[in-house]
Amino acid sequence: MVDNILTYSMIDQETVSRIFDTANILEVVQDFVSLKKRGANYIGCCPFHNEKTPSFYVSPTKNIYKCFGCGKGGNSVNFVMEHEQMSYIEALKYLAQKYHIEVKETELTAEQQERHDDRESMLVLNEFAKNTFIRNMTETDEGRAIGYKYFKERGFNEETIKTFELGFSLSDRKAFTDYALKSGYQQKYLVSTGLSILHDDGYIFDRFSNRVMFPIHSVSGKVIGFGGRVLDARTKGVSIKYMNSPQSEIYDKSRSLYGIYQAKPAIARNDKCFLVEGYTDVLSMHQSGITNVVASNGTALTTEQIRLIKKFTNNVTVLYDGDAAGIHAALRGIDMILAEGMNVKVLLLPDGEDPDSFARNHSSSELETFIGANETDFVLFKTRLLLGDAGNDPIKKAELINDIVASIAAISDDIKRLLYVKECAKLMDIEEAVLKDATEKKINKITYQQLEAAQKERERERRQKEMAAQTPTQQPQTPEQRPILNEETARNKRFCEFESGLLKCLIRFGNNVLFEVEKENTPIENVTVSRYILNDLKISEIAFRNVNCRKMLDIYISATGHGGTLDDSLFTQCHDTNVSSFAVNLLVEKNEVSSEFWNKRNRYIPPEKVNMKEVVDRLLSGYKLEIVEQLLDDIQKKVAELENEPNSEERDEKIAALTAKLPIYIKYKQKLSSSLDRVLNKK
Ligand code: ZN
Repeated sequence: MVDNILTYSMIDQETVSRIFDTANILEVVQDFVSLKKRGANYIGCCPFHNEKTPSFYVSPTKNIYKCFGCGKGGNSVNFVMEHEQMSYIEALKYLAQKYHIEVKETELTAEQQERHDDRESMLVLNEFAKNTFIRNMTETDEGRAIGYKYFKERGFNEETIKTFELGFSLSDRKAFTDYALKSGYQQKYLVSTGLSILHDDGYIFDRFSNRVMFPIHSVSGKVIGFGGRVLDARTKGVSIKYMNSPQSEIYDKSRSLYGIYQAKPAIARNDKCFLVEGYTDVLSMHQSGITNVVASNGTALTTEQIRLIKKFTNNVTVLYDGDAAGIHAALRGIDMILAEGMNVKVLLLPDGEDPDSFARNHSSSELETFIGANETDFVLFKTRLLLGDAGNDPIKKAELINDIVASIAAISDDIKRLLYVKECAKLMDIEEAVLKDATEKKINKITYQQLEAAQKERERERRQKEMAAQTPTQQPQTPEQRPILNEETARNKRFCEFESGLLKCLIRFGNNVLFEVEKENTPIENVTVSRYILNDLKISEIAFRNVNCRKMLDIYISATGHGGTLDDSLFTQCHDTNVSSFAVNLLVEKNEVSSEFWNKRNRYIPPEKVNMKEVVDRLLSGYKLEIVEQLLDDIQKKVAELENEPNSEERDEKIAALTAKLPIYIKYKQKLSSSLDRVLNKK
């Protein structure tokens, strides 16, 4: 990730602990949210979602916050990360500054230091370049006459120019390079940032001469690259108007979005992001008052870019120019946004307008009215558009159905998908069942393809890890997120529920005695919840699937040995911020152990009404049943895949080996089901 550049300075562990120990959640939150005292807690309106009645709680004793409206919760570091959209390291530094804690950074290895220095040096040089380009535009005759004039003629005001730090690169082909070298910047960084181009013969010159300059910022506001636009007089005969910084250690165009730094507060506030194509589209909309807008820099949208938006909102509206050719090309990228579980709307501008011109020619209230009236749900928009194209041509209509099926199949939410099937079948005048069937087939196909891709990905990761192990100085790779699989997601959710339930029993009731064991010649032994669960997991060789649950279990075991209950703060103040916010969600409920949790999907029983043994048995049996079902499904899927392959002895052997395992699993499944029934019937 682009923003990881900041994490290369590692804060030493002792400092991290001091920050966690010192930060007071009440003081940290009160810098941003006004709170009222209510009993032992404080309460206010949640800064993360829109609400009129406060459901945002701060507990000074537990040193955590938690919103019962949107579910966000965690410790001071979580709060600063979430509220200020900072990275872990940035949040720590912010808190260190607030509490006057001196930040000690750990010694880096020579290679780490060099890499860190390289990135830092590139960022410093980009900052210098940005400031030079700004000064060029305001302090030189050429800059004022050409660069500044251009922005003014396009209708951009001082504030916009300032907010986006726009500038100008002089026409002299060596102006910037020479100035930077004279100011002490090293040639190698001029080349690695792409600000200068070095020829084989040693001649070095500016990449962006005689262009207006658009700095590209990271989410945290660092200048990671530039876009430069040739000016109108030169565009005649020039096919590419814009030039961007090349890919580098600090700039990855597929992982950045133009305007994200300036837009992020508004995106979070409005819970919505507008997606446009170019730099000036962003500037014009921003200037007209619509500030939650970003551009994909003219490249095809990538999954990484979508995930960048997803950090702030689930709602995306894509803006299109009125001309039909552009729309069809752009439609393709959108299934990807749907697959990320986001809500996508489309806004088609009037014929002949682009977001830039449209925003310039209308007031902000006119814009808002237009958006409100014309924003259309993407799938329905696509269906209507393609229907218009197809007319009465049956072949075209069949193609259209396939196309729509692909979009609907990309939606991961089951209920949402069914609603679309209904709506689109009506629009296309076909049987709902036919469309539903086609969608399901498509999903299965996608799932197989994704399974295959995931398998390859795991293989690649494994190889990478092996290689990394051989070269110890290599930086750890950020594991890429696995593709989202509908079935798998639902199953993972269930695994997580069971694991959370078991963890809760351990942490809350670990010391409770379930029963006593009496053996000859030995004293009576108490079997506690803790011992019972941990033993069972060990014997069954089960490792928790959910990474946060697994980490919490590790913390539990290493802190208690093999038994006992623990203070929640061990989890909620955990330095791993994923674990801490997960733990707050798990452990903090309005009425401590709320009946809601235990009743969820009728799987659990309120603990005060039954004995603990039943609760634990139910959780363990249900959990194992889920695991066995997954094993069975996996076998069936593999067999089905093999059956599609051409006949061969090898294939038949593989199928036989797989099916041979089935009876054992089925028997185990029956055993678990009946023991689960026993627990249930006792009730
Ligand atoms: Zn909230």
